[in-house]
Parts: sequence; C-alpha cells; structure tokens
Amino acid sequence: MRKKLFKSESKRLLDLMINSIYTNKEIFLREIISNASDAIDKLHYISLTDENARSKRENGEINITFDKDARTITVSDNGLGMTADELEENLGTIAKSGSLKFKEEMDKKDRDENDIIGQFGVGFYSAFMVADELTVISRSYKEDTAYIWKSEGASGYTIAEAEKDTVGTDIIMHLKTDTDNENYSEYLNEYRLKNLIKTYSDYIRHPIKMPVEKRREVGEGEDKTYETYTEIETVNSMVPIWQRPKKDASDEECFAFYKDKFHDYTDPVSVVRINADGLVSYKAMLFIPAKAPFDYFTKEYKKGLALYSNGVMIMESCEDLLPEHLRFVKGVVDTNDLSLNISREMLQQSHELKAIATNIEKKIKAELKRLLEKETDKYLTFFAAFGIQLKYGVVSDYGINKDSLMDLLLFYSAKNEKLITLKEYSENMAEGQENIYYSCGDSISAAKGIPAAVIARDKDYDVLYLTDEVDEFVMKTLMTYNEKKIVSVLDEDNGLVSEDDRKKAEEQAKDSEELLTFIKEALEGAVSEVTLVGGLKDFAVSLNTKGGITLEMEKYFAQMPGENHPRAERVLELNPEHSAFKAMKNCYKDEPEKAKKYAKILHGEALLSAGLMPEDPFDFCNLVSELLS
Ligand code: ADP
Repeated sequence: MRKKLFKSESKRLLDLMINSIYTNKEIFLREIISNASDAIDKLHYISLTDENARSKRENGEINITFDKDARTITVSDNGLGMTADELEENLGTIAKSGSLKFKEEMDKKDRDENDIIGQFGVGFYSAFMVADELTVISRSYKEDTAYIWKSEGASGYTIAEAEKDTVGTDIIMHLKTDTDNENYSEYLNEYRLKNLIKTYSDYIRHPIKMPVEKRREVGEGEDKTYETYTEIETVNSMVPIWQRPKKDASDEECFAFYKDKFHDYTDPVSVVRINADGLVSYKAMLFIPAKAPFDYFTKEYKKGLALYSNGVMIMESCEDLLPEHLRFVKGVVDTNDLSLNISREMLQQSHELKAIATNIEKKIKAELKRLLEKETDKYLTFFAAFGIQLKYGVVSDYGINKDSLMDLLLFYSAKNEKLITLKEYSENMAEGQENIYYSCGDSISAAKGIPAAVIARDKDYDVLYLTDEVDEFVMKTLMTYNEKKIVSVLDEDNGLVSEDDRKKAEEQAKDSEELLTFIKEALEGAVSEVTLVGGLKDFAVSLNTKGGITLEMEKYFAQMPGENHPRAERVLELNPEHSAFKAMKNCYKDEPEKAKKYAKILHGEALLSAGLMPEDPFDFCNLVSELLS
C-alpha cells in the first residue's frame, strides 16, 4: 500500500503535536470526543432531509474503551462516518475550520504555541500529543464500504478498505511509550478517563459510554463473596447543570457541582445563576467560595471562569470575565455567541465578552450586598476569607472601583465590638460628632490602646479599629462616606481636641521651646519633632507622624521587596498637663542627664502604645528599672 504524504501545512501542525511540550496534553480526548459529537449531529441534520441517512441513523452515542496490553484507547461514534475521499480530505489536509484558524494563528510571529493549544485545542491532530499511531476506521452513511486510515505521524498515512458493520467512526489511539518526564500510561485507566470526560466533556449532548468495573455481592451467609463485573455506564451528565431551569437544579446540586469541578471541600456561600437573553445570550453559574484556596495569595492562583460554547469547554479559565477584585469567584459561562476559534487577543477585544464581564461583575456585587443584608453569617464567612481582596479592590486602579465596593466593607467597631459597615457607623454617630474615626494597629488591642483612640472613645465616639495593613490606604482612598470625613484619631484637626485645649498647648509649647529642643536632641534623631498637644488626659505621651506617611504605611512598605522604603516622620507628642512633663521641666536644666533618661522612657512608652518596639528594648528596660529603684 502506498503511503501518502500529508499536505505541507498539515505536516507542520503535526510536527508540533508530535513534539508538543504542552503540559496539558489531556485535552486530546476532549478534541476527539468533540469531533465524534459533531459527527452525530451532522448525521442527525442530514437525516432530516435524506431518507438514506435516516434509515442508517440510530440514537447517537459515543463509546470509549481502552486496552492496557495493546496500549490503545478507542473512541467510537455512530455519526455520519467518512468515505475514503473524505478521510483523505479531512485527515490529510488541514482545511477545516478549527485547524485552519489555528494555523493562521501560528503563522503570526512571536506566538506561544502552547498557549494556543491550551486555549483552543486543534482537533484531530492533538491526539498525536499522546499517541504514536492513529487508526481511523470509518464507514460513511453514504456507502457500504468501510475504510481504514492509519498514520504513525509525520511520515504520512495510508488508506485501505476495511470491515465495519455499522455507520460511524472508530478512532484508535496507540499511546506513546512512557518517558522519564511523561507518563502516557496514565490514560489507560478507567478512573483517569472518566475524570477527563467529566472535566472536559461532561456536557456533550450525546451519551459518552464506558465500560466500568463494579463489584457485587454473590452467595449467601458464609458463602458470601464479592465479584467484579463490567457494566457500560454513561459517564457524562449530558445536560449542563447551568442550563437546567432553576427549579431543576437545587442549591445543593449546584454546590456539589462546584465542589467537584473546582476541587473544594467546602460548600460555597452562594451560587449566582444568570440566564441572559439580551445583546449577548449566555448562561452562567457563579460561585462565591467560603474560604480561600491555599494558593489564593500566590502567583499560582489563576483567576477566571470556565468558558463553554455549545457544551464544549473552550477555556478552562477565562481571565477577562472577572475583574481583579472579584478574582475569588468561580464558575462557568456558556454562550453560543462567541466563536470557538478566535484567538485570545481577539477574545479580549470582543464586545460580547466585555458585555458578559460587566454583567457578571454587577450580579456578583448585588449578591454580596444581598448576603450582607439578609444572610449576615454567610457574609461574615465570606468576608473573613476575601474581605481583604475587596479592600485591595478599593485601593487599586486609583480607587476607580471604590464607590461600588465601599458598602461591602466591614470594619471592627469599638462601640459594637464587632464588624460593621461604614453605613452603620455613619447612621449611628454620637451627638455633635462630625467625623468617622479610625485607629490603626497590629491588633485590636493595639489600635485600642493608642491614646487618641481612648480619647475619642471617652467622648462616646465610635472608633473603627483597623488591623489589616491595607486598611489605612482604604480609608485614605475613600476619604469620605456619606459626606462624613473619614479621619484617623491621630490626624491633626480631627476635632478630638477642643479649641481651648489646642490653644493652651500651643502657648505652652512656645514657652517650652528650649525644653522641646532638649528632648529632641536627647532622642538622637529618633523623632523629627517634639510638640505639646492638648486633651491627652491621663496619657503622658503619644506618637504621631507628619507628612503623608503614617506608621501603618511605613509597616506596609517595609514588607515590600527592595530597600529604601519610605519612613514615617515621627512626632513625639507630650501632654503639658502631665506630671511627667512637669518633672522634666523642673530638672532638665540642673540635672540634664536625668531629664535625658526621662525623655527616652517617654519615647519608649509612646512607641509601645503605638504598637512598636523601642529600638533598644534592653536599654529601655534598664531605664525603667533604674527609675523604680
Ligand atoms: P475540526 O473539527 O476543527 O474541523 P479536526 O482536525 O478535529 O478539525 O477534524 C478535521 C475533520 O475531520 C472534521 O472537520 C471532520 O470533517 C472530520 N472528522 C474528524 N473526526 C470525525 C469523526 N469522528 N467522524 C466524522 N468526521 C470526522
């Protein structure tokens, strides 16, 4: 039998498949099954008008078997089949839609071939990623003769007559030998194949059947034993759960689907179903998880929704369907309005995709709002896992999303001793209170211990204790809520110190200029300024900052890679009414050494109450002990 050569462009594609380093080789099965399903659809379509085709047509089904010893996987369909000419034309040339588009993509410069394989698959030839020999036995509905097409790859293919009783096509893939890096034998396994079918082809409209091994009891009483037997089972569910009417898919079923598909053990907090029939028609089933996957905060985590077209998954994770701040959302989008064979760049530009993404964002935010209002416990679970993501969403892109996110944020309220919204805060402000106050710290108790926070609480003002590093940036981005200014308890002019106290402290500062300079020098550059402030009540000192960088921001930047992080300019605020200040005032001239020690102790105290360690804790402890002895 004479060997025929592949047409040159097909050969190129073939080479690519044979030598593929693409890691996701498993998609070959999806491609072969998808072709089989198409073949069944085509026969159905033809039989609507063709009497001969109608007489040959049976209920469409796809059968998959494997043979461990022979190292083969066979996919059989009872679709329209191929004549010898069609085998030649379809499998010897790359003339068909999907593959042709693929080739056009490949011809563009600087393409990452693996990327394209992954995004779109490339049909029949993809089987060469795992197989070293492909055999196609096909009988067309048009003829009584069957043909066998065989190829071992790039060297070409042969076509000959063959035996086949029924109309349809068998694709027999002989798997490559395992290597150190590749385990092809893994596909010769019932569980693995079932899993692949479930993952990629669950929603093919025709049944995909496979013999599966089962166990049953035989005999009775003492003779009771188990035997294994095989049964043909339909592996795919045929109707996608997201295409079922709402009443036919309970939340529990959807959750089971979520756990299965997205490999989570925990039920999500919510499922959002969309059935859109507008400019773009699509169905979506989206999930809001209850906890972050272990890799969520790493580069490994992939944001995106699975994209389906006609029941075939075309992209496992389409990033462009989700904004960054909703990257925790999982789910599926199914639309027939997107072409299967467009490149990733074209997809990004597509108006349809943008319309879907915009709508999805709206629906998810609406659902989060509903949870917050109606199912608070669930929202709290969600917020514990992903609240930080929403906060980053407020801060990023110059705050462009802040308006749609701010009502979804929760902060710890001093007054309520639990998380509340800014709305709740603003609606329950004390008489005469003008601003929304917050205090930052590494923990609630640290934020609570800041003198200015205590003073605000003394006035019966609620204070939000912020413990996430990003929190202060969130507040600075929001700036106001409901026309109320959001201010730090440490901000100047934040209304916590009365005008009288402020003026008085100012005058005292003028009188104490020499002492303040003395203290600053005693601290040897640890602070940029020493001032007196009013209203500090029982507190001797407080640490504040000036300029744009606060202590919390300094901590945040310190964690970033690199050096020369911005540092907060520290201001030591002293209470002129406090005995500690008075003691220093009395002694700094006659006993400067003693006054220096006082200054250092007060500075250490200020650091501690701001949640920071004194630079030399040992020295600080010694000073305190000395004072006590
Ligand atoms: P595509 O499916 O994108 O057109 P493929 O390379 O997967 O490209 O397949 C090439 C062609 O081979 C198909 O268009 C189809 O005409 C034919 N073909 C593949 N598999 C089958 C099958 N199981 N039954 C009938 N025809 C098939």
